[in-house]
Amino acid sequence: MSSPMKKVLVVEDHPDMRELLIWQMELMGFLAIPAKHGKEGVEKAMQEKPHLILMDIMMPGMDGWEATRTIRSHPDTKNIPILAATALFRESDLRSCLEAGCDDYIVKPFTFQELQGKVQEFISGSTVPVQ
Ligand SMILES: [Mg+2]
Repeated sequence: MSSPMKKVLVVEDHPDMRELLIWQMELMGFLAIPAKHGKEGVEKAMQEKPHLILMDIMMPGMDGWEATRTIRSHPDTKNIPILAATALFRESDLRSCLEAGCDDYIVKPFTFQELQGKVQEFISGSTVPVQ
C-alpha cells in the first residue's frame, strides 16, 4: 500500500531549467507537472490542484507575479502554497514576490539540497531524502 504521490506544479519558461526542476521534484518523490508559462501555470493549478507550486517569476506573457495573483484570487486555488524560484535577488524584487502572494522564495542558482529544504517546509515527499 502506498499513498498517492503529492503533486508539484513547476511553472518555468526556460526548457532546461524546467526539465531540471521536474527531475528534482521526481527525485524528492513528487509527481511533477510542467507548465511553460504563467497562463499554463494558472490553468494547470485549477485542473490539478497541486500540493505545491514552484513559480518562476520572469516569464514572457503572464509573468510569475500575475500568475500568483491570479491563483490567489480563485477560491479553489487560493490556499495552495507557492514557492517563487527566481533569479531576482534584490530585496525589493523578492518582497514583491511575497506581496503578489508567494509564501516564500528561493533564489537561482540553488543547490538540490537548498531546494529540497525549502520544498519540505511545505510538503514532504514519499521517498527517502537524497543525501
Ligand atoms: Mg524565466
